[in-house]
Amino acid sequence: MMPDHVSAEAPDARACQAFDEAARREVLAEVLAALPARVRPRARVDAPLGALTTYRVGGNAAALVDAESEDDLLGLRDALVSSGAAGQVPVLVLGKGSNLLVADSGFPGVVVRPGSGLAALGGLDAEAPGEGGRAGLPAVSGAAVLVRAGGALGLAVLARRTVDAGLRGLEWAVGIPGSVGGALKMNAGGHGADTASCLVRYRSVDLVGAGGGESEAARLRLGYRTSSLGDAEVVVWAELTTIRGDPETGRALISEIVRWRREHQPGGSNAGSVFTNPPGDSAGRLVEAAGMKGLRLGTAQVSEKHANFIQADDGGKAADVLALMTHVRRKVAAATGVVLRPEVKLVGFGDDPLGDAGHAPMEVDP
Ligand SMILES: Cc1cc2nc3c(=O)[nH]c(=O)nc-3n(C[C@H](O)[C@H](O)[C@H](O)COP(=O)(O)OP(=O)(O)OC[C@H]3O[C@@H](n4cnc5c(N)ncnc54)[C@H](O)[C@@H]3O)c2cc1C
Repeated sequence: MMPDHVSAEAPDARACQAFDEAARREVLAEVLAALPARVRPRARVDAPLGALTTYRVGGNAAALVDAESEDDLLGLRDALVSSGAAGQVPVLVLGKGSNLLVADSGFPGVVVRPGSGLAALGGLDAEAPGEGGRAGLPAVSGAAVLVRAGGALGLAVLARRTVDAGLRGLEWAVGIPGSVGGALKMNAGGHGADTASCLVRYRSVDLVGAGGGESEAARLRLGYRTSSLGDAEVVVWAELTTIRGDPETGRALISEIVRWRREHQPGGSNAGSVFTNPPGDSAGRLVEAAGMKGLRLGTAQVSEKHANFIQADDGGKAADVLALMTHVRRKVAAATGVVLRPEVKLVGFGDDPLGDAGHAPMEVDP
């Protein structure tokens, strides 16, 4: 449905918008037609997207392509480039959708979803190089073992399978409902570790440019929930370092992490922490101190259990979640002077979803 404010625009603006929409649909049709024959059956137009996120709100993707191999990704890249869509039509890489809020109007571009064919876990028996090891890999201790995890592999599966194989160090990932690719993009972490602390190397396909290939972890410039991974760059696999250890001890740690999560974090539809923690403080504490814990706005509510979580009702609206984020952020800024930085990625909301334009610059990463 057309948003209310559009009806107030001049007729020329509406005509222009209609033309843009028609042109975009034409370009998308060209992209899908240019896909390799094996990929085409896995491409859909106007496909549900919000439903694929943990918020379970939001609209459709103009096009959604399931990729099961690096070749599929390369085929999509060729289609985007040959149709002239690369750089014209927005591209979104979808992992498990656990850090995304999709607008009710959806996403007007191509979404690529790496599937089970890109979720392998290998190298469990391969000893990592010791000091002065294989060229191109950082030296790690003799007891270390590298594993190679597909970009679409779930982090909980990664944690449990490595522990079962007698490999320790990735237990922290068990409570994060994302994928390996999403973890690289976000530098996901918790319980005293993060992706940066174990990532050695990764492989990616750049869907719109000449980037991609194999790279050292340093290229990602991983920061607190940030990376320099391009928005149209798809993680194919990541090599992560583990150490040999007792599976029982690893399983006990996993159980403790799962127990802690259940005790401290709400269930329901959410995307984890809404805002990153400002230096030396916690976003949850600030939201609570500003009196926002439990606040409801339409179909969205600041969790009663953890003030840095916003939950959406079944059948809720992304607009309500965004409005609540905006409101909470303003209240915290007014009460404490701290402008919270969103951790959740806002998809399809336009250039200035939180209304920052014209206001004081946002706090940057420490
Ligand atoms: C209950 C709950 C608890 C959470 N707890 C934590 C936590 O403790 N710590 C934490 O860091 N996060 C946490 N999160 C947030 C989220 O799980 C992480 O950010 C996770 O890394 C996102 O992975 P994803 O696969 O779901 O990515 P998505 O949400 O699908 O996407 C997030 C970003 O990653 C990109 N992306 C996804 N897959 C790929 C790929 N294969 N290649 C390239 N880019 C890709 C997307 O384009 C997007 O920019 C939590 C979320 C929930 C719902």
